[in-house]
Amino acid sequence: MLVLERLEDPHSPLKRLPFGMRGLWGPSIEAFYRRGLLEQIASQRRDESSQPRPGSMASGSQVRGPAGHFAGIAFDYSNIDSSRWTYRLPSPADTQLGSEMEHLERVLTAHALSAGVEIQRGHGVEGFESANDEITVHAGEQRVRARWLVGCDGGRSTVRKQGGFEFVGTEPEFTGYSVQVEIADPEKLRMGRHYTPTGVYTQWQPGVIAIVDFDGGAFHRTQPVTCEHVQAVLRRVSCTDVTLKALNVATTWTDRSQQATAYRKGRVLLAGDAAHIHSPLGGQGLNLGLGDAMNLGWKLAATIRGNAPDGLLDSYTTERHPIGARILDWTRAQVALMRPNRHSRALEAILRDLIDTRDGATYFAERVWGVSLRYDLGEEHPLVGRSCPDFELEDGTRLGTLLRDGNGLLLDFGRQASLQALDGLWGGPVRYVASDAKDRLGLSALLVRPDGFVAWASDTTPSPEEVTRAAARWFASREHHAL
Ligand SMILES: Cc1cc2nc3c(=O)[nH]c(=O)nc-3n(C[C@H](O)[C@H](O)[C@H](O)COP(=O)(O)OP(=O)(O)OC[C@H]3O[C@@H](n4cnc5c(N)ncnc54)[C@H](O)[C@@H]3O)c2cc1C
Repeated sequence: MLVLERLEDPHSPLKRLPFGMRGLWGPSIEAFYRRGLLEQIASQRRDESSQPRPGSMASGSQVRGPAGHFAGIAFDYSNIDSSRWTYRLPSPADTQLGSEMEHLERVLTAHALSAGVEIQRGHGVEGFESANDEITVHAGEQRVRARWLVGCDGGRSTVRKQGGFEFVGTEPEFTGYSVQVEIADPEKLRMGRHYTPTGVYTQWQPGVIAIVDFDGGAFHRTQPVTCEHVQAVLRRVSCTDVTLKALNVATTWTDRSQQATAYRKGRVLLAGDAAHIHSPLGGQGLNLGLGDAMNLGWKLAATIRGNAPDGLLDSYTTERHPIGARILDWTRAQVALMRPNRHSRALEAILRDLIDTRDGATYFAERVWGVSLRYDLGEEHPLVGRSCPDFELEDGTRLGTLLRDGNGLLLDFGRQASLQALDGLWGGPVRYVASDAKDRLGLSALLVRPDGFVAWASDTTPSPEEVTRAAARWFASREHHAL
């Protein structure tokens, strides 16, 4: 596998604190845990975190303080009723974690290199052509031939544009600014987030400010961001006459929200911002991209190895597109609340009341933390399509560590003789594990995909035929491998 990265230098002030901080939620944290990377990713933040954290889902309601927010409106840990989340078990994988982009990239780069991936920096993809089941990628003078191409090249993706993917959605309402400034009269700007009659500004740390200016996205990428311009916008949005002495770092963004209508076109696929863009409100974009990668990785690997059942690769779009669409709407709803008008302030007042209830806080935690994420796999069992609980087996082994080798699992809590006969039926891609769990949540057996999502589950003793039928959708049998 080859990664072509346009940038020569992986470092940037925008990838470091304070601007490079990214909120990671449940599914991303679980993904890192299931690939053995969580310790390394969390190590940077362990001593720095000042956020109260629930430790485990079960203990969430014993902690007080803001647990997250929607358009800046906080919901409180003490209101979250995690007992409703029937299929969650205490786990080293928490529901939220802050990580610096540069640190995250460093850990993932090392992991990719150790897995034999080649990374060529300073090689931007300029175009590609497909012929005879092969793709020729143009990167400067270089021509790279490949069987598959995955565009993970960000919001202005060359692969998406050259591949003719349809990219549809809504136009921006604002230009957002993330700036680090020196302020001559700092007493004029309050700390925290503030809705004003002209926009929203948030001062995270002294001089570290995010500004939302409802200009229809007109300024973004049209002119250089100067100190004079930032001062003018900040004065207008904060309704003060604050004076800036210097502008140290600045970047802009918008709430343009667009999504590719399909994530696959033949041998070309999209993942991350290349497939979907939206405002950073609520910190979901990176999480969405990581979810794409976990969903696509094992399916593409099985396809390349020649042991993917029919339709496996297309399930990448059918599973991930609705999740992306839901996130785009989640961010659009926040924009609607932030508009500087009386209608939005009225809506905000109602939302503040609702978010402060047990039902409200639990709902927002489910959405923000990704607890409610479920793929529609057409199966009735309520666990199917959800992230697998972190079962602890009798010998202390946890599900998260069993998934580290990237294979699927057939977990047989009842140690049923009839299921033992299935051991090896799918070769390497599915490991059969016969062991009871300390808390099996009423389950008898379940099939877990390599991405950690439950493909099939049964509360009663299943027949081998039932298991084989369910598995055939995700894994080709050993006979198929031999073909
Ligand atoms: C202010 C702000 C705060 C945010 N906070 C959060 C948060 O808290 N949580 C969260 O989940 N998300 C957050 N996001 C969103 C998140 O940063 C993005 O969704 C995420 O970085 C997208 O990752 P990506 O790899 O898909 O794209 P990118 O990060 O854009 O990476 C694309 C890579 O492809 C390279 N590239 C581009 N074109 C080419 C080419 N033609 N050939 C080769 N290489 C190319 C680029 O150099 C880059 O390295 C935030 C965004 C902003 C702006």
